[in-house]
Amino acid sequence: MSKDFQNFIDGQWCDSASGERFDNINPADSDDKVGTFPVSDPTDVSRAVASAASAFDHWRKVPPPERGDIMKRAGDIMTARKEELSILETREMGKVLDETRGDVQEGIDTAYFAFGQSSRLSGKTIPSEMPNKFNMTTHMPIGVVGVITPWNFPLAIPTWKIFPALTSGNTVVFKPASDTPATATLFVEILLEAGVPETAINLVHGPGSSVGRAIVEHPDIRAISFTGSSAVGKNINSTAGAQLKRVSLELGGKNAQIVMDDADLELALEGVLWGAFGTTGQRCTATSRLILHENIHDEFLAELKIQAQALRLGNGLDPDSQVGPVINATARDTIHGYVEVGIGEGALLETGGEAASGGALDKGFFYKPTLFSGVTPGMRIHDEEIFGPVLSVIKSTSLGESIDILNATEYGLSSAIYTRDINAAFTAMRDIQAGITYINGPTIGAECHMPFGGVKNTGNGHREGGDGAYEFFTETKTIYVDFSGTLQRAQIDNR
Ligand code: NDP
Repeated sequence: MSKDFQNFIDGQWCDSASGERFDNINPADSDDKVGTFPVSDPTDVSRAVASAASAFDHWRKVPPPERGDIMKRAGDIMTARKEELSILETREMGKVLDETRGDVQEGIDTAYFAFGQSSRLSGKTIPSEMPNKFNMTTHMPIGVVGVITPWNFPLAIPTWKIFPALTSGNTVVFKPASDTPATATLFVEILLEAGVPETAINLVHGPGSSVGRAIVEHPDIRAISFTGSSAVGKNINSTAGAQLKRVSLELGGKNAQIVMDDADLELALEGVLWGAFGTTGQRCTATSRLILHENIHDEFLAELKIQAQALRLGNGLDPDSQVGPVINATARDTIHGYVEVGIGEGALLETGGEAASGGALDKGFFYKPTLFSGVTPGMRIHDEEIFGPVLSVIKSTSLGESIDILNATEYGLSSAIYTRDINAAFTAMRDIQAGITYINGPTIGAECHMPFGGVKNTGNGHREGGDGAYEFFTETKTIYVDFSGTLQRAQIDNR
């Protein structure tokens, strides 16, 4: 059933200034229209920023544990509405229901983490170099923050940003991806029901090129938290950087799994199937390269091919489906373009390499799990993010060579090594250039209380998850209390 959704600005559900609307269609089923959404523009963004700015002075003074109680209530409501959220998310994003349930659970965990964190927003007391003087630090909210999110985790990623932003006392202007605006709208409804002040959270739907851009450019937004592609991230960084805004960027990946010849091969195979084809390869942490030791290469590849071919594609709402569609027609065409590039570069197409069709699949954007062997660094399918169900297999002769291959990319988000050798595992932990390294686990699967983020072109050094998010959304204030009753001069040679 289709519904007309709205923006939420200045405490009101409303249409955009232009009055125009865009459609949101289920990527697994072109007959299923999820809804229509307002096409907003900079006028709507300005109203949203004014609303968030007006809410800031009240919200920043609400005691943090009281703010935390609201986040806990949001977690409770999300728990009660978990199935509704999951089904809506599968309809608009496509991934299978088990995965959207996981996405929603991640949001719930993040709410409860925020509740706990709200009473731990502590500063430090630090000894003074002078008598009768007390030194400490506190954390202050920044002000109005802009949150811009992608479509692949329609709930978890917004919660990673919005819960810590609000818990820290900031107010928010939120622009979700145009492919997944419905889950975002339901999330804002839940925040309001939980008790977030109506002007403190503002939701503006519409294209990144106008709404996202206006958020980044608005002088009253003091911090931007963005997850998405490296191309857009670089653009945001230069625009926001010119205004000296704080910017957190979580960008692309080209993650690899190494399998050594001493590994538990069944476990490694299960890991790569999940890492490469879970979420149809559309995770920033997806395994898109598999580095196999030469001693197990042929045997492993043969079994992987059989198992990749056996994966069942279908509508994510069907419990039999293991792999859902890709997000839209453009994504399917981009993925297929890379397959043609790979063939042209001389890689061997082992399986897949084409859209999946027949029966109900004809109504969606399905692409067969695809496997290339004979890939080497320098090939575009090795170096560039494809963001779809395409796995490149590279042969290696040693641990050192495997790590060098893994590192031979501009990205550095997630990584994995399967080995039973403790020395190899610790060498990999030390030498792999990535923000996340799994030992004997696939490259995907974050836990919300752990730092999440990457090195090199995957980001700009900030981390989501855990305490790091709270550092991003607060300013440190240094406080000196001089109770000596005399002028004590620091930065003068008193000793
Ligand atoms: P995009 O960069 O295309 O879009 C991300 C968000 O930015 C969307 O809301 C989009 O709006 C908006 N946007 C687009 N252009 C601009 C602009 N000029 N100014 C401001 N905002 C803009 O990425 P995708 O949505 O396609 O997501 C896939 C990418 O995200 C992949 O590269 C993936 O690796 C990365 N990603 C990274 C993660 C990480 O944590 N490192 C996690 C998940 C994904 P609209 O939808 O309207 O275009």
